[in-house]
Amino acid sequence: MKVLVLNSGSSSQKSALFEIDRRSCGEAPEPLWQAKIEWSGPAPELVVNAASGGTIRDRANIVDRRGVIEHMLETLWAGKTRVLGSASEIDVVAHRVVHGGPHLTDPIEITPAVKSTLAHAGAFAPLHSRSELEGIELVDRLLPRVPQVAVFDTGFHRTLPRRAAQYPGPYDWFEEGIRRYGFHGINHQYCAQRAARLLDLRLESLKIVSCHLGNGCSLAAIQGGESVDTTMGFTPLEGLMMGTRSGSIDPGILTYLVRETSMSGEDLDAMLNRQAGLLAISGLSADMRDIESGITKGNTRAQLAFDMFVHHLHKNIAAMASVLGGVDVLTFTAGIGENSAKVRSAACAQLSFMGVKLDADKNSRLRLEGEISSFDSKVRILVIRAQEDWAIAQASLRIIEHSRRGQGKSFFT
Ligand code: ADP
Repeated sequence: MKVLVLNSGSSSQKSALFEIDRRSCGEAPEPLWQAKIEWSGPAPELVVNAASGGTIRDRANIVDRRGVIEHMLETLWAGKTRVLGSASEIDVVAHRVVHGGPHLTDPIEITPAVKSTLAHAGAFAPLHSRSELEGIELVDRLLPRVPQVAVFDTGFHRTLPRRAAQYPGPYDWFEEGIRRYGFHGINHQYCAQRAARLLDLRLESLKIVSCHLGNGCSLAAIQGGESVDTTMGFTPLEGLMMGTRSGSIDPGILTYLVRETSMSGEDLDAMLNRQAGLLAISGLSADMRDIESGITKGNTRAQLAFDMFVHHLHKNIAAMASVLGGVDVLTFTAGIGENSAKVRSAACAQLSFMGVKLDADKNSRLRLEGEISSFDSKVRILVIRAQEDWAIAQASLRIIEHSRRGQGKSFFT
């Protein structure tokens, strides 16, 4: 089975092709082919790596979004990164969909009816939704006979109890779809399962606080494998301080700015999503690597940005732990979570009252993933490599195999 994953963000488009057989479960294999388009520079930049050793890195001269994605997909079956004889070898295309809205949670095969529900849910995350629907239409055109599956970043948080999902605004908000959805669910779920596997413990018995710290950052409180609370909310703007997003701020600041300045909704949106967080406070960069190197050069704003990031992080970890009534496992994942020993160490230092004790040596030496807690820590601390695309591929395969079996068929027979 060959599963192509399309993971479109607001500033990048990632894709991967996996070969999956009946035995592929748990461990993530290296993809046969991996590609990324960065939209943020002067022209879109395409980087492709194939397991065969072929690589491409070029600035695409086609500026049209669809044209660039089409060009990226063609590198699957043409040129030096070719890993397929033809496009028809792809069995399933899986899309990461950021916001399923109130009606879409479980992975689902994309039909015309699903497409129209997705288009309605677009109001909740317009930036992401536009590129996701574009990707689905493009695959419809290029690979008309290949089934497509949507896997939702909000789906894992469908188990949030009403007390956590409802905002204390007007009661009717909830029915109107204004509620906490939570995001990064695909990776939070993967990390919980991976933690249980690495520790050889039953997921059902564990209280886990999962820290996804990338460009976007969120925490999830996970009990028995189910999400019971999370820091992101109606949109991915709530919660922790992030690279360019503010995270939670007093909503009174927004009403003040609207009243006292001429800022529009769009201005506020741009300010809070793209001109806030690490970038705004450091005045330097949204990237934690630059913040850390700024600190070594004595940059005081970089130090403030780091201190604020860590402050919001440990404060919210403790909040998630209190929702769980204790914590057995703390996991760190994504760009910052996997790579910044300094962030992990500073956050854990403040959590010693909860029995969190890091092994400084393991923390600084760790490569890829593993345990970094000291032998006498009450809480096991793990670094887990994010494998979002692999988790999406597996989820989509399950749904397609399920529907094939319903028709008396299987991909594996
Ligand atoms: P995304 O949310 O876009 O998938 P990633 O999970 O790849 O992002 O995280 C990207 C972020 O990870 C970068 O912006 C940077 O802040 C951080 N990062 C990556 N490598 C390191 C590193 N070695 N040390 C500190 N931070 C890092």
